[in-house]
Amino acid sequence: MQYSKKDIEIGRKFFSANSRYLTSSTNAKNLPEHQLCEVAFAGRSNVGKSSLINALTNRKKLARSSKTPGGTRQLNFFEINNQLILVDLPGYGYAKVSKKNIFEWTKLTGYYFLERSNLRTVFLLLDSRREIFLQDKSMMDFLDKIGLSWVVVLTKSDKLNNKILQKKKTQVMNILAKRSAAYPFIFSTSSIKSFGLEDLRTYISSFASKQNVL
Ligand code: GDP
Repeated sequence: MQYSKKDIEIGRKFFSANSRYLTSSTNAKNLPEHQLCEVAFAGRSNVGKSSLINALTNRKKLARSSKTPGGTRQLNFFEINNQLILVDLPGYGYAKVSKKNIFEWTKLTGYYFLERSNLRTVFLLLDSRREIFLQDKSMMDFLDKIGLSWVVVLTKSDKLNNKILQKKKTQVMNILAKRSAAYPFIFSTSSIKSFGLEDLRTYISSFASKQNVL
């Protein structure tokens, strides 16, 4: 994505304003009611989701790391700049999690994807260094099936040199080309080195203008 300096500044300002934790939901009955658009962040556990949310918002501990295998997981809602809600979805793919827990999380996330009318897009985080896992593919299948738009964000791109990163992006683009609800662009980011955050902030901020849609 080639954003102009002006657009980049809009994204920077958007995220430098107030961001705050709003609430968490453990089941479909306690999803918060509000008038803003939502964007959701999904991905495997350990993909770097909390680090990315913290880096985007310039907050060290807004999103907490999800190192609680087997623990109850929830949807966490953050309000950005009084204009947009960012939703941190339960990380998937923990080998040690019980089937019952996987079922509960999948049920809640599935319900949220299907029923949440103000949800605009899903950012699907993939670790740059890792292969694409079966659960990632299932997530892509589900989002395509229900026609909910989604965007790939590669995380931890500081771990790869530029040549290998480009190869990875080409590989992922080939997958996206066959996917009906995928946005045809990949954001590659590093929360640690702050790569790619500006473009992503600008793209995310564009969803805020489409508010009051309920
Ligand atoms: P989550 O489980 O998806 O929320 O993942 P975390 O944000 O807790 O990150 C998991 C691990 O990856 C932690 O050890 C982080 O320090 C590391 N990590 C996260 N983002 C980056 C990044 O951009 N670059 C590198 N090198 N490591 C990262």
